[in-house]
Amino acid sequence: MKVILFGPPGAGKGTQARRLSGKIGIPQLSTGDILRENVKYQTELGKAALSYMEKGELVPDELILKLIKERLSSEDIKKGFILDGFPRTINQAEKLSELLKEMEIGIDVVINVDVPDKVIIERNTGRRLCSDCQMMYHIEFSPPKKEGICDKCGGGLYQRVDDREDKVRYRLKVYTKETEPVLNFYKERGLLKTINGIGAEEEINRRIKEAISCKL
Ligand code: AMP
Repeated sequence: MKVILFGPPGAGKGTQARRLSGKIGIPQLSTGDILRENVKYQTELGKAALSYMEKGELVPDELILKLIKERLSSEDIKKGFILDGFPRTINQAEKLSELLKEMEIGIDVVINVDVPDKVIIERNTGRRLCSDCQMMYHIEFSPPKKEGICDKCGGGLYQRVDDREDKVRYRLKVYTKETEPVLNFYKERGLLKTINGIGAEEEINRRIKEAISCKL
């Protein structure tokens, strides 16, 4: 199964992709997570991407496409994958299509997780991550038992620089201008399914699974 989870920053794609990945045993390919790993270990890619990420801008397509090409050449994607946060521009979508054509595989479904801007701002600005295990919290909706400390591993929690309100608003602007047009790209190819991204995590997961089974 090859799925793209699509939606604005903070729509819950990461949480849902991780959940789905665990349930059906296919990897989640998150360009944001891969970039953050590279930033953490100060690789060449991480150094090149950092300033864009901190400003809430998109990392240039050539860096992202190189990263995706490498990731899609691994053995573990043979059974399928869940793309999360990619593609984010029409150029990325076109290049992905070319790459998958060469590999003789195709996307089964693109699920658009629809969440209004007001909710996106609330979700992103309250989000906190564990610096060790990347477990996600929200200061209001899913706070840790002890403020600032991860329930799972005891690591310190931090706020992503790009989750500060001004950055979130800027990322939404970038999303509308650069990423939203990608929806049409997949709509024209008959692959798009939009689901309501408001509700409990389990309920959204159920909607995603339903959207996937409709397309398979
Ligand atoms: P995310 O965790 O998906 O919100 O991504 C965090 C940041 O990484 C984004 O704001 C971008 O700076 C960068 N990024 C992640 N995926 C992409 C992509 N497909 N194209 C360009 N930049 C990306």
